[in-house]
Amino acid sequence: MNDMSIGLSYDDVLLLPKYSDVLSRAEVSLRMDLGADNVLTLGLPIFSSPMDTVTEESMSIAMSAAGGAGVVHRYNSIYRQVQIIKDCQPIDNVGAAVGVTGDYIERARAVVEAGANFICVDVAHGHHVLMKNALEELRKVMPDTHIMAGNVATLEGVNDLYDWGADSARCNIGGGSICSTRIQTGHGLPGLETIFRCSQTDRPISIIADGGIRNAGDIVKALAAGADAVMCGSLFSGTAETPGEIFEEENNTWKTYRGMASKEAQMDWKGGYSSFEGVSSRVPYRGHVDRILFDLDKNIRSGLSYSGARNIPEFQSVAEFVQQTSAGAVESAPHIKRRKW
Ligand code: IMP
Repeated sequence: MNDMSIGLSYDDVLLLPKYSDVLSRAEVSLRMDLGADNVLTLGLPIFSSPMDTVTEESMSIAMSAAGGAGVVHRYNSIYRQVQIIKDCQPIDNVGAAVGVTGDYIERARAVVEAGANFICVDVAHGHHVLMKNALEELRKVMPDTHIMAGNVATLEGVNDLYDWGADSARCNIGGGSICSTRIQTGHGLPGLETIFRCSQTDRPISIIADGGIRNAGDIVKALAAGADAVMCGSLFSGTAETPGEIFEEENNTWKTYRGMASKEAQMDWKGGYSSFEGVSSRVPYRGHVDRILFDLDKNIRSGLSYSGARNIPEFQSVAEFVQQTSAGAVESAPHIKRRKW
């Protein structure tokens, strides 16, 4: 057995506040260029997840308008995915997910033809021979398209994704809010530790912190740890722009948010399930997503200014983490309600 190392996650750390001469959040740029050869430029480094309760037309439009990008899920026919990509045009950025077997080449060609400016090779365990084959085949037919791939949790995984043809890597195994992979399989790595490790890559591949991100503070920590962008599902769940109906229960309004490997999603898309590594949940209906994106943008800019930085590369060069205890983590969130008067 190997020597065991510790795996930190978002609540285990804080960023040290530093001297700042940033006078206004408007001075801070969140622009990121992802990939070396097939550059994808974002004004807000956030992707919405390729999930059937997160990203179709409306979410793609809202994400692109805010400077980010939606990734349209692949749990549909090629025809339907193409329709989604064509409705939402013209927008700056929209991606489309494909798998690693079956119709993935045909699907990738069709979505790019329809206007997707990047594709996302989307599987649960991306450090896998099927990913290698798929990336090598995709690279032959689309040398100039930005290809995102994942998920992986290790430096070796990131390096292999690059060597097989990827421009950006979704990093994190088992950290999503609807994910049960770590419970079912015992495998994974805490989300922030994943970014610490994956961002050590010497390849020009961009690192996307995916899953387990709950607020702007987590995004700021992911960027400080070396992520070039983040991917979020639950942060946007329950909004008007997600696919699915609003329903009423217990005097509240809700929408469904579910893992793509949940029983429920597999039943809908495959008509049955084998094993499942995700759950389905109702989440409160929260109105339009543009308010959430607006707040994230402002809070991330504030985050950079607390380190005295005006852009993400500068922030990554000055950011300094401290580990906190569980008492520190309690103090770090509003705690008035825990107080015994
Ligand atoms: P969240 O932002 O914490 O809700 O996590 C969203 C991420 O969870 C997605 O971007 C995927 O990487 C991942 N994910 C989606 N569906 C499943 C699943 O069924 N099991 C495990 N992970 C999932």
